[in-house]
Amino acid sequence: NSKKHGKNTYSFYSNHLEQYSTYRLSMRTALRRALRNSEFFLEYQPKFSLSDKRMMGVEALIRWNNKETLMSPNEFLNEAESNGMIIPISQWVIEQACRDIAHWKGDSKACCPVSINISPRYFQHGCLVDDLKACVNRFKIDASCIEIEITEQAFIPDIENAIKRMHELNDIGVKISIDDFGTGYSSFNYLMKLPVQQLKIDTSFIRSLEESEIQHSLVAEIIKIAHLFGLSVVAEGVEHEHIADLLMSYDCDLAQGFWLGSPIPANQFYKQFLVA
Ligand code: C2E
Ligand code: MG
Ligand code: MG
Ligand code: MG
Repeated sequence: NSKKHGKNTYSFYSNHLEQYSTYRLSMRTALRRALRNSEFFLEYQPKFSLSDKRMMGVEALIRWNNKETLMSPNEFLNEAESNGMIIPISQWVIEQACRDIAHWKGDSKACCPVSINISPRYFQHGCLVDDLKACVNRFKIDASCIEIEITEQAFIPDIENAIKRMHELNDIGVKISIDDFGTGYSSFNYLMKLPVQQLKIDTSFIRSLEESEIQHSLVAEIIKIAHLFGLSVVAEGVEHEHIADLLMSYDCDLAQGFWLGSPIPANQFYKQFLVA
């Protein structure tokens, strides 16, 4: 009986493994096809200064127009990260962002820095700096028009190498933000060591800001400490005016969120924010 049970268990798992590897294979094929058929596009979400509501930068966010359904990056980037497709996809994002910047440059009043999200694997891969340099040269734009956003997973596995890479980025004029701060290790110890310029407080803290006094103090303290280290602070996921007001009273520098501006396609962003 136990033997029979064991066999069933085995086939249960092997079926699931099979299904899983079929899924993974088809995702890989689908992502390849998506690149070939230009199914990816970028949306742009502005970052605003809280004190005067001026736009100080903008974040590029990838979208996948997959057979008429729009897939969000959370649904496919994890898979791309583990099957290697994240490398060519990231290179496409950089290229497209640089193309957009070059296109906007003609009319816009000032260079508004564009932030690109860089996945842990691509950050660690080694070609990031060269890819960035090649793209800015190709589109004749300034590297200082580009910033990158990385999460803690990008540098925690190998801090020393990460610091080297960060210096290379800073040397060509690319600023660095730590994204989703508060969700991972969130150690102030590494903040002291890393050559980064900006900290983005994760949505989860901003959304729960009103829940308790402790949440208020926590966010206020994160902002104070970040300032102590010379970092500017962005609050992500600001959905209401009173949250923006609260954050301003804590001296938070910048904010992003649906209340201020949702992610929108490149041409719409251009019309709405750059040629006014
Ligand atoms: P993220 O970099 O932390 O981006 C913020 C996410 O919050 C975006 O989701 C944005 O659309 C969403 N958001 C903005 N304002 C609000 C708000 O007021 N309320 C709420 N609830 N959400 C808001 P999105 O575009 O689905 O991206 C999810 C994540 O996927 C990003 O998180 C980033 O980690 C990753 N990602 C997006 N584009 C790229 C890319 O081109 N390359 C890489 N490697 N990762 C990307
Ligand atoms: Mg981001
Ligand atoms: Mg984030
Ligand atoms: Mg995120």
